[in-house]
Amino acid sequence: MSHCLSALGVEHVVIERGQVAERWRTQSWDSLGLLTPNWMTRLPGFQYEGSDPDGFMSIPDLIALFDRYAARSRAPVIPNTSVVAVEPVERRFRVVTDRGTWLADSVVIATGYSDLPAVPAAGDKLPASVTQVVPKDYRRSSQLPPGGVLVVGASSTGVQLADEIQQSGRQVTLAVGRHLRLPRRYRGRDILWWLDQLGVLSQPIETVHSIEISRHQPSLQLVGRPDHSSLDIGMLQDRGVQLTGRVRAINGFEVTLADDLIASAAAADLKMAEILTRIDRYIGLVGMETDDAEPFRPTWPSATDAPERLDLKAEGIKTVVWATGYRRAYPWLRVPVLDESGEIVHDGGFTTQFGLYVLGMNFQRRRNSSFIDGVGADAWTIAEHIGRSMVGTRVA
Ligand SMILES: Cc1cc2nc3c(=O)[nH]c(=O)nc-3n(C[C@H](O)[C@H](O)[C@H](O)COP(=O)(O)OP(=O)(O)OC[C@H]3O[C@@H](n4cnc5c(N)ncnc54)[C@H](O)[C@@H]3O)c2cc1C
Repeated sequence: MSHCLSALGVEHVVIERGQVAERWRTQSWDSLGLLTPNWMTRLPGFQYEGSDPDGFMSIPDLIALFDRYAARSRAPVIPNTSVVAVEPVERRFRVVTDRGTWLADSVVIATGYSDLPAVPAAGDKLPASVTQVVPKDYRRSSQLPPGGVLVVGASSTGVQLADEIQQSGRQVTLAVGRHLRLPRRYRGRDILWWLDQLGVLSQPIETVHSIEISRHQPSLQLVGRPDHSSLDIGMLQDRGVQLTGRVRAINGFEVTLADDLIASAAAADLKMAEILTRIDRYIGLVGMETDDAEPFRPTWPSATDAPERLDLKAEGIKTVVWATGYRRAYPWLRVPVLDESGEIVHDGGFTTQFGLYVLGMNFQRRRNSSFIDGVGADAWTIAEHIGRSMVGTRVA
């Protein structure tokens, strides 16, 4: 956003409660790598040009990249400064921080889609002797108390953590909900290369049947590892992970599970088969030379023996990892733009309050709006609107 505003000559500041790339500095686990290949690290005025375009960036390398990008863009970042209130005053906004107040004609909220962990209320029913961990606080398996681990959620985070913890020698049980299974590579190319070619990632909101349904799709079940391997629930079961359906209820050590594992696995298999068929058709249409299609191994047969109850005490499970996604909260936003669930109501990033925008939301304007690769296009749209409608920022 700052890069685009600068390019358009709009005076601005970037207020950040920590440092540039704060979330990546303080809320990533040690083994995390980007799940998007390096060539997808595209930002306004920046394109990855290193020697490993198909590799997956480590988080320390990503932080260094954001530092360089901010410096090169001369982004006027004010670090270690938390916004504590944004309120309308006449036709502007008063932005109150713990280190001073600004008056701004426009405000772009870029506090992130993956802001806070979304932990089901059932978590409150677990006994205090069971440790609960959310991904932002997880660093490595050795930090967990000895014993078995229940990982809840099988999207990108859940499968990575289940695999890592199981490989460290503990028994993992994985409660699987809806997920979007994808192979890492297909017919000789990264799966995201194909989705990029097909225009799936940059698909605009106007072309989807229901934006509400699309915004609630699970995230991609992908991992970025040096060997470009895939990870799915069938592989996890082969490695000894016990699979179950969704967590329905918790009462002390007793966890009730839904009888939906086959349905979730079969739905993910079907969706993946549909995507691969689209790729096959595209290859046929453009007449590309590619590798042969890999054999398709469905995951639903791994789902047939799921228990309906789990006694955490009897199973020796001492930790529950909630890989159940994210929510957002804006307690500092004193502008009436939130719906009853506390989400910002917006149309492609434009709120109903003139001059107030949001950036980085899931499927904000395109499917990849909350990805590094997609946020730039949305930032340009909003920056151009700001450029047309405002004159600058003044210190109060
Ligand atoms: C585990 C995980 C893996 C991911 N992997 C990928 C990937 O491989 N590729 C990809 O493209 N995307 C990935 N993403 C998505 C990723 O979140 C986005 O791509 C992108 O980094 C989000 O950037 P952002 O600036 O919108 O939000 P954030 O990175 O969340 O930044 C928001 C910033 O706002 C600051 N802030 C919040 N509240 C306040 C306040 N009140 N006052 C001042 N500052 C405040 C925070 O400190 C933070 O620095 C991943 C996300 C997660 C959670």
